[in-house]
Amino acid sequence: MTVGTIIKKTIKRLDLEGKLLTPDFYADAFCKEAQKAGVVYEDCAHVDKFSKTLNPEFQKELTQYRITTMAELARFLISRLNRTKPTICTELLDAQNTLIRRILQVVEVLHNAEASVLAKEGIKLLNSNPSTTEYEHYRQQWINFITTYDDSFLEKLKLFASVDKTNLKKTIQSIDLSKLHSQEGSQQKELQKVVSLLVSSFVPSIASSVNEKIADLSKRLNENPSIIDNSSIENEVKSIIMLRIALDKNSVKEMLASIDGVLDKLSFRLIEMIERSDDSTLEIQKIKKELESYNEDADTNFSIAHKKLFIIATALEENTQLLSRDLKNQNGEVKVLSERISKLELELQEAKNASKEDFLTKLFNKRALDELLKVKEAEFERYGHNFSIIMFDLDHFKDVNDNYGHEAGDAVLGAFAKILKKEVRSVDIVGRYGGEEFIALLSETDTAGGVVFAQKIREHVQRARFMYRGKRIEVTVSAGVSERVNHTSLQNLINSADEYLYQAKKDGRNRVASKK
Ligand code: GH3
Ligand code: MG
Ligand code: MG
Repeated sequence: MTVGTIIKKTIKRLDLEGKLLTPDFYADAFCKEAQKAGVVYEDCAHVDKFSKTLNPEFQKELTQYRITTMAELARFLISRLNRTKPTICTELLDAQNTLIRRILQVVEVLHNAEASVLAKEGIKLLNSNPSTTEYEHYRQQWINFITTYDDSFLEKLKLFASVDKTNLKKTIQSIDLSKLHSQEGSQQKELQKVVSLLVSSFVPSIASSVNEKIADLSKRLNENPSIIDNSSIENEVKSIIMLRIALDKNSVKEMLASIDGVLDKLSFRLIEMIERSDDSTLEIQKIKKELESYNEDADTNFSIAHKKLFIIATALEENTQLLSRDLKNQNGEVKVLSERISKLELELQEAKNASKEDFLTKLFNKRALDELLKVKEAEFERYGHNFSIIMFDLDHFKDVNDNYGHEAGDAVLGAFAKILKKEVRSVDIVGRYGGEEFIALLSETDTAGGVVFAQKIREHVQRARFMYRGKRIEVTVSAGVSERVNHTSLQNLINSADEYLYQAKKDGRNRVASKK
């Protein structure tokens, strides 16, 4: 639609409404027609534009009075200005200010530190003629306060009061202290539990008795568990725990020492037993078995180990006592036997002394020979009966022993004796003078006769077959001959025969030597 058409319609409208063609009526009618035609002219929106800058209250009034034109707007504003008294505005502001102050003073005494501080700041601000930005800043602080405000702490009172968040006084008044006590009571019970646990931990696990200090603190804690909060009690608890550990350690030490002692005794007894008993292996095996089973239980506790060791020690003690008793008895028997033996030995010696027979060859022994020599000597001295002595000594007899054994040597000695006995006359005497030395006493015989006899023996020996365990032993004999008449004493005679024997040996053995 063109402006011309809108103008035509405007004039027609004024005509129809019976209005004069004044600028205001015209402008008004034109804007209406333009609006109708859907065309927006800036001049037509003047009122809207200005009215929007007014506060909402004025805007409301503008709609109430149907103010549509700039002229109407001007009139409205003028009348409003005429109506508004500056004194009333100031009074209003003062009243509001005072109200805000009162509110802030009230807030200040309320029981909220943050709100109280904020209120104080507000009062100060109001006194300082603040700018709008300062107002804005302050307002923001209250917004922060209210958005972070949390009164859930009141919930805690629920256990013993009926909580009314809108009425703190009522809430506080409703607190039931008996409920509070019962709450404390349950806390007390909890504490009691902790304390009894703590106290039981004071009791030494190894040491047999409780120290006085431990008993005292345990008593105090049991009587009044709440003292556990006390810092000095905390220190006491610490030192009691240390004390308890020390007591236990000490007990372990003592127990180890006592076990050590038992072990010492045990090993002492063992050694003693081993030293004194031939039958100790069996006993030791028993002890070993005991000790093995002791090892299995060693970890369980000291008293079991101690008991076991004690049993072992006792058993050992009994065994040792039995053994030593046996040993004493045996010692007694041995003593009796050894006494008997020495008595027998004495008797044997006496018998030996009394005997004239050589035990091996059954010839006269040296003792007998000495006596017989004395008899012969007496006969010689008294009656002038001459006699000869021949000393025989087996040749290399040591070799016989070395090659065939001592037993063979003995057999040879026996065989030689038999030859002597066989060849001798009944009036003559033969005997063993020492180891492998023999003597023949020939009555009424001179050196020549003696030599004949000696040669006979020598030849017989040489011929003889000395057999021992199927082996032939070559044996020869040497001899020295002397007659009594050639000597001044018996001893000289014996020495002489001995010297001739030595001569025979020197000359090559298996021979007879005598005075030529
Ligand atoms: P010799 O020709 O110089 O006499 O030599 P021998 O080995 O015979 O002499 P010696 O004196 O060196 O050794 C004598 C040996 O006779 C040593 C000794 O063991 C042994 N004898 C002495 N009496 C006995 C005895 O009763 N039985 C046995 N089997 N041997 C004896
Ligand atoms: Mg000899
Ligand atoms: Mg000899």
